[in-house]
Amino acid sequence: MNLILLGPPGAGKGTQAKMLQNAHGFVQLSTGDMLRAAVKAGTEVGKLAKDIMDRGDLVPDEVVVSIIDERIDQADCAGGFILDGFPRNTGQAEALDALLDKKGMKLDRVIEMKVDDDALVERITGRFSCKDCGEGFHDIYKPTQKDGVCDGCGSTNLVRRSDDNEETVRSRLQTYHRETEPLLPYYQDKGILKQVDGMASMEEVARQIEAALAA
Ligand code: AMP
Repeated sequence: MNLILLGPPGAGKGTQAKMLQNAHGFVQLSTGDMLRAAVKAGTEVGKLAKDIMDRGDLVPDEVVVSIIDERIDQADCAGGFILDGFPRNTGQAEALDALLDKKGMKLDRVIEMKVDDDALVERITGRFSCKDCGEGFHDIYKPTQKDGVCDGCGSTNLVRRSDDNEETVRSRLQTYHRETEPLLPYYQDKGILKQVDGMASMEEVARQIEAALAA
């Protein structure tokens, strides 16, 4: 099954994608993660993307479309994939339709995770993760048991994303409302859109997503 998790930054797309990956073997394809890896590696794409990402703007469509185009061709995607953070505007959605068509593939579901903006700012500005094992934490909702030490692996290498500050988060939310929300009627018209309550607990959101996949 091939699906899109659609929702504003901080809606929990990454968390749910990882749960779906564990439960079903679908591969999580996060353009944000891929771009951050490119920035870290200092590639041409990374150099181009860094300032844009720090402002909370969108990286040019052709860059993300070609990243996804190549990634979907890899063998592990044959059993299904979850697009997390892509597409983010109608140009990307149309390009995705065209490239899936070309590959003889299709989208089965688009899941919208609904969350309100103020809750998102609190969620995002408080989050941090372990650079060594990837475990995610939050200042209020999921602090580490010992200050400055990862519960998972004991590392003290805890990091925050440079775009997780309030100013950039507000700008990323505006970008979401302006550019990405028009995708909801786009997928509604195709009859593959389902909605879940992104404000519910992680387990409840997962349950609603499973129901949406089974429907
Ligand atoms: P995310 O991790 O999904 O919140 O993405 C972090 C940042 O990467 C975004 O604010 C954008 O600057 C960039 N980005 C990620 N995915 C896309 C995309 N599909 N199109 C354009 N820019 C993207």
